[in-house]
Amino acid sequence: MFNLRRLLRLSNRSFLAFIFFFSMSTTCLYFIYVAPGIANTYFFMVQAQGIMLRDNVRTIGQMIRLYTNKNSTLNGTDYPDGNNSSEYVVQPTTYLPENFTYSVNLPCPERLPSMKGPMEVNMTEFPLEELEIKFKQLGIQYGGHWRPTDCQPRWKVAFLIPFRNRLEHLPILLLHLTPMLQRQRLQFAFYIIEQTGTQPFNRAMLFNVGFREAMKDLDWDCLVFHDVDHLAENDRNYYGCTNMPRHFAAKLDKYMYILPYNEFFGGVSGLTVEQFRKINGFPNAFWGWGGEDDDLWNRVHYAGYNVTRPEGELGKYKSIPHHHRGEVQFLGRYKLLRYSKERQHLDGLNNLNYTPEVSISSFYKNISVNLHPELAPIADY
Ligand code: UDP
Ligand code: MN
Repeated sequence: MFNLRRLLRLSNRSFLAFIFFFSMSTTCLYFIYVAPGIANTYFFMVQAQGIMLRDNVRTIGQMIRLYTNKNSTLNGTDYPDGNNSSEYVVQPTTYLPENFTYSVNLPCPERLPSMKGPMEVNMTEFPLEELEIKFKQLGIQYGGHWRPTDCQPRWKVAFLIPFRNRLEHLPILLLHLTPMLQRQRLQFAFYIIEQTGTQPFNRAMLFNVGFREAMKDLDWDCLVFHDVDHLAENDRNYYGCTNMPRHFAAKLDKYMYILPYNEFFGGVSGLTVEQFRKINGFPNAFWGWGGEDDDLWNRVHYAGYNVTRPEGELGKYKSIPHHHRGEVQFLGRYKLLRYSKERQHLDGLNNLNYTPEVSISSFYKNISVNLHPELAPIADY
C-alpha cells in the first residue's frame, strides 16, 4: 500500500483524504441501496419513540388534571387523539358464547367463541416435512385447502404469499395461520408465488400472478396478500373481507406497534375479488424494495374506497427476524407514485403476461415465475 502511494506520487494528506471520502461514499451507498430495511426501521424507531413519549406525557397530564379537577373526565373532549392512540379503544365484547351451536346451512358468524384474542407466536424453525403431520391432524386437504363443515363459510379466502429464498419462514407462517383460520371458520387455501430468475424482487407483480392463478382453481371471493414473515398476534383479527379494502397488519412489532404513517398498506392486506378487479390489481412496475404498497393505497382511493383496519390490539403482528440481506431499494418509486392515477388503468392485471410453472403439494400450490419488465409492457402516459 505504501509503495502504491509512492508510485502514484500522493502526499500523505491526499491519500488519507481519499481513504476518508471513499469510506464515506461506500457507507452512504450502503444505506441507500443495500440496507433499506435497517435505515427505514431505525428512522422510524426514532420517530416512534417521540410519539410514545408525547402520548405518555399527554396521558400523565390528563391523569393529573383528572385528579386535580373534578369537572374534567377522561372521556371528555380532551381524549388523546391521533392515529396511534387506538390502545384506548375498548375491545368489542360481542363475541358469541361458548355454548353457541352452529347450523350447517347458515353462514358462519364473524365473532366466534373460538376466537379468544391474543395468541402465542412461535417462531422456532422446523422442516416442511414436519408440517405434513400437523396438517394431517388439522384436516388440511391437498394444496392447503380447508373449509368448515359445521356452517357455511362466510368468505372463501385465497392467501397469496410472495416468495423467494425464505423457505425457513414458510412452515412457521403456515402452522401459525392455519389453526387461527379454522377458528375463524373461513374457507381457505395457500398460494406461494415464487419469483425465479435474476431480476429484483417484484412483490406486486407476484400478487397479480397469484390472483390470476388462484382464480383458475375456485371462485374465491376474498384475497389476502400476506408477507411470509408476518405473524398475527390476535386471532380476533378476522381474515375475511369487508365492503372496504382492509389493512390487517396495522401494528408491527418492528415499528414498536405504531402505524408508521396513515397511508401505510404493507405487510398484510386484503381485498374482495371485485375490489381487486376494479383497481386493476397491483402495479407491475415496482422492481425491488418499496412503493408498491403505497401505490395500491393510491389505487384503492382513486377507486373511491377507504381502507379499514382492525381495532386496537387486534392488528398486532410480529415479524420473523431474518438474516437475509434486504432487497435492493427501488429508487424509481417516488416518480411512479406521482403518476399513480395515470398508471392505474395502464399497468396492472390488464397488461400482464407470464408463463408459470405450477406444482401442488399437501401444503400449498406453488406458482413459480421468472419475472422481467417485458412481461408487463406499458405505453407512455
Ligand atoms: N420476499 C421474499 N424474498 C425476498 C424478498 C421479499 O420472499 O428476497 C417476500 C416475503 O414474503 C417478504 C415480503 O416479500 O415477507 C416483503 O419483503 P421484506 O420482508 O424484505 O420487506 P420488509 O418487511 O423489509 O418491508
Ligand atoms: Mn418483512
